[in-house]
Amino acid sequence: MKISDEVMNEMYKSMGISEAVRAYGQKTLEKLEERFREIDRVTEFNQLKVLRAMQAAKVDAECFNASSGYGYDDIGREKIERVYAECFHGEDALVRPQITCGTHALSLALMSNLRPGQELLSPVGKPYDTLDEVIGIRPSQGSLAEYGISYAQADLLPNGDFDYDEIRRKINDKTHLVTIQRSKGYAVRPTLSVEKIGELISIIKGIKPDVIVMVDNCYGEFVEDREPLEVGADMIVGSLIKNPGGGMAPIGGYIVGKKECVLNAAHRLTSPGLGKEVGATLGMNRSFLQGFFLAPVITSNALKSSIFAANLYEPLGFPCLPNATEERFDIIQAITLKKPETLIAFCSGIQAGSPVDSYVTPEPWDMPGYDDQVIMAAGAFVQGSSIELSADGPLREPYAVYLQGGLTWPSAKFGILYSLQKLYEANLVSRDSLC
Ligand SMILES: *Cc1c(COP(=O)(O)O)cnc(C)c1O
Repeated sequence: MKISDEVMNEMYKSMGISEAVRAYGQKTLEKLEERFREIDRVTEFNQLKVLRAMQAAKVDAECFNASSGYGYDDIGREKIERVYAECFHGEDALVRPQITCGTHALSLALMSNLRPGQELLSPVGKPYDTLDEVIGIRPSQGSLAEYGISYAQADLLPNGDFDYDEIRRKINDKTHLVTIQRSKGYAVRPTLSVEKIGELISIIKGIKPDVIVMVDNCYGEFVEDREPLEVGADMIVGSLIKNPGGGMAPIGGYIVGKKECVLNAAHRLTSPGLGKEVGATLGMNRSFLQGFFLAPVITSNALKSSIFAANLYEPLGFPCLPNATEERFDIIQAITLKKPETLIAFCSGIQAGSPVDSYVTPEPWDMPGYDDQVIMAAGAFVQGSSIELSADGPLREPYAVYLQGGLTWPSAKFGILYSLQKLYEANLVSRDSLC
């Protein structure tokens, strides 16, 4: 039986969404049908990639058993790593709950593949904030700098292109590892497509063929039909509480790529002599596998949510990055909300639309390491999970919010409509602008 518009409207109304906001949302969606179909095609392709990898690794019920203690002969752990390697086109993989977050995975990959006297180069400007202390850009206990590993950086040109002259100047005898961040993260620069990453890698390897290229793959997995190992990267690194965990993994990180790189990381994570042979999985294997299985669809839900948000907010006079129509290479949506009260109202709507902690009101707070107050909305099953619908932003000009995630498209759609409802109720957008 078809659900009438009336019944649907009543449902939304019973959950606090006014007719004006819902009608505006529906009008917005009509323009996106073609784009969503394209996303569904990429999802279908990526889902088959994952399925093929699981079949090739002979995933079976025995994989779901929990190991404890040393975790010797954990067949599930070994097959998970085979699935990741197969799907992302790597020789080997390290996928572990002992990798505590994305920063840890990146730090591990760097620390284990660089030696004193060598140099790390970022040819795409300053990396993600949490890497400042890993590298020693900000002095920190245990940084690469403390171990005598130096750092060089080539910024992007003002138009976002690679500065090949500067990159050439920065590559020297000491340069051993090049780090390329795929997603813009919370910076204002374009996210790199896999194609662009491939162009950059071929130039860099043309200058210095034996250099190791690592890609920070956070937020990029399954957005396109290819991953960076397919265009010449030696190692990709990411977090399981983002795209590849599919909302199921409660912790974890991965490193996939050349055998040598992965084994260096494994021997650093556990110990020289132990490497990949130990590391109990404590019952986590099922959620890692099931999450990876779901990840292409979950990522596409998050992608649709970001595109919907941009198309909802941009016509209302709030600049969006990426903008409403451009092609996407990660799941993050920045929206410039211009006023502190708009930022706060937006986040309160995202929070109120969540499945968990919907009754709490997010408030700006003094977060360690930040100069300005920050407001965060997250009603997630996994703490800090940003593949689940979440929003945050610093309380400073231009009051930009960063929105990401959305496990299911209908729930994310609801959360985003709820954010607009809060703006509407506070007269921060007018009724006329919604028509
Ligand atoms: C999230 C993220 C990280 C760090 O991950 P955490 O899990 O928060 O430590 C690193 N780089 C990029 C681009 C990210 O998006």
